[in-house]
Amino acid sequence: MNVHEYQAKELLKKYGVAVPRGIVARTPDEAYQAAKGLATAPVVVKAQIHAGGRGKAGGVKLAQTPEEAREIAARMLGSKLVTHQTGPEGREVRTLLIEEGLPIEQEFYLGIVLDRAIGRPVFMASAAGGMEIEEVAAHSPEKILKETIDPAIGFRPFQARKLAFGLGLPTELINQAVKFMLALYNAYEQLDASLVEINPFLLTKDKRLIALDAKVNFDDNALFRHPDYAELRDLNEEEPLEIEASKYDLNYIKLDGDIACMVNGAGLAMATMDIIKLAGGEPANFLDVGGGASQERVEAAFRILLADENVRAVLINIFGGIVRCDMVARGVVEAARKTGVKVPVVVRLQGTNVEEGQRVLRESGLNFTVADGMKDAAEKVVALARRSSS
Ligand code: ADP
Ligand code: MG
Repeated sequence: MNVHEYQAKELLKKYGVAVPRGIVARTPDEAYQAAKGLATAPVVVKAQIHAGGRGKAGGVKLAQTPEEAREIAARMLGSKLVTHQTGPEGREVRTLLIEEGLPIEQEFYLGIVLDRAIGRPVFMASAAGGMEIEEVAAHSPEKILKETIDPAIGFRPFQARKLAFGLGLPTELINQAVKFMLALYNAYEQLDASLVEINPFLLTKDKRLIALDAKVNFDDNALFRHPDYAELRDLNEEEPLEIEASKYDLNYIKLDGDIACMVNGAGLAMATMDIIKLAGGEPANFLDVGGGASQERVEAAFRILLADENVRAVLINIFGGIVRCDMVARGVVEAARKTGVKVPVVVRLQGTNVEEGQRVLRESGLNFTVADGMKDAAEKVVALARRSSS
């Protein structure tokens, strides 16, 4: 789960991480009031969307007066911000953070992320801050310093000192940097985050170290421990069909193709997407209905698949192990009756109660194409998708 910069900063502040003074605004007038309330010049007007790269895209602007903050806010609010992380459709700006403008001496990078390969958090620091860290990692990885953390012991002060010296900070700032990094790790741990990123980690002209930008991702597996995070969720930033799918505990991710797939098991779902591509098609989504899917869940899944306007054909690929093929067939037939299917549907069923499942499909009076095996299913669905799009 992602949150906005202003929410990340509020959370980090509670753990003693230094952040700029800032006020949230949702109208141009609120932006004016916020700038006035901060009583400093300049202020920075920052678009709040769940994507980085806002600075380059015009989503971070300096205002010298409250009036100017109001003008910038009027232009930003309601506009679509397109950054290298949003995709070409961009994100609508609905919220702004009005922040004190700080005098920049130097911009660094700090990040803590779970390294799944080694099963430990890694604390990263770089003097190449302010820019895209992915670029730095790709072209000059030696500029990123790393400290691996033993989660049982935690991030040690000597590790923080190593990073602080590695950044080339002057001696009189080392203690301040160490304090900042320890607070940041404490926040990462206590918040059950999977990522905390400060880019830029700012050194001001008056020698203060401050988080000028902040990104926090929560580990979804730990969300049950934080019922209070629910109010931090911004549904405007999420794909509507993915929100609907999450209500039914479906693992659904929308993609750009035109062949919808309904599959049980993440591995089979990946294999199905691969074989669709191999047959020359493009999957419209990833969907795992799960091992013990109920008829209701299968119905919901089918409805969600068909709600995607790009879909030209559907492939249902089910291996009945715990889930029974007849139950899946009934769910699909029920959903097809209720929603009406205008696109061809190819079904490949295998496993528990497969004969009964096929009988349900045959006797439904609906037009399903039954396939023998995955390869046949993929070829059939690709051919049908081509025909229905031409
Ligand atoms: P993004 O990463 O989405 O581009 P940032 O919050 O990192 O957004 O802002 C981009 C740049 O804007 C920063 O690298 C910094 O130079 C400048 N900036 C952001 N906030 C402030 C601020 N409060 N005071 C001064 N400059 C700022
Ligand atoms: Mg940034």
